[in-house]
Amino acid sequence: MIGVLALQGDYEKHIQILDQLGMVSTEVRYPEQLDSIAGLIIPGGESTTMTDLMERVGFHKPIREFSEKNPILGTCAGLIMMARSVEDSRVSSLGIIDVDVDRNAYGRQVHSFTDSLPVSLDEQSKSTKATFIRAPKISRVGPTVEVISSYDGEPVAVKQGHHLGLAFHPELDDVTIFHEFTFKKQFETIHAA
Ligand code: GLN
Repeated sequence: MIGVLALQGDYEKHIQILDQLGMVSTEVRYPEQLDSIAGLIIPGGESTTMTDLMERVGFHKPIREFSEKNPILGTCAGLIMMARSVEDSRVSSLGIIDVDVDRNAYGRQVHSFTDSLPVSLDEQSKSTKATFIRAPKISRVGPTVEVISSYDGEPVAVKQGHHLGLAFHPELDDVTIFHEFTFKKQFETIHAA
């Protein structure tokens, strides 16, 4: 079962994508629920609010521990939460992917846009639709982080170990490749059982 952090943000769209892929999912609101899932999605939303809500129930340490063995997919605010460091001190990020990010670097809501991007997954190059909404910019990429997609010469999708962080929102364009890629193993294991 794949969990979607459901404290705030567009978690319902992620549940729909998992449904489309035939993956069983659950909304995660308490740290104890991490024990019964095999992968986690941290959705888009507002990283300052997400920080407060995560601190209120004590999610930081349990998610960090969870990430050592299980894959996490973060989109937009989810990527901000997964980063090593965020320029905004109101955000307390998890340090799961070794990147630094700047919040809202692409401007305010009016600067949201959709475009198509090349992405390299499983050594294959694919094209994907990507919607950016007050997206973060990745300002530093650590040595063990792989950039799997760039836009205008800037990294917008990164992979470290079994984790994926995206500056955009695949779930808004019904793009399923990132969910499929991140949770492929979990899906295969569940279906082989
Ligand atoms: N700008 C938001 C933040 O800083 C992220 C926006 C999004 O998730 N679409 O958290």
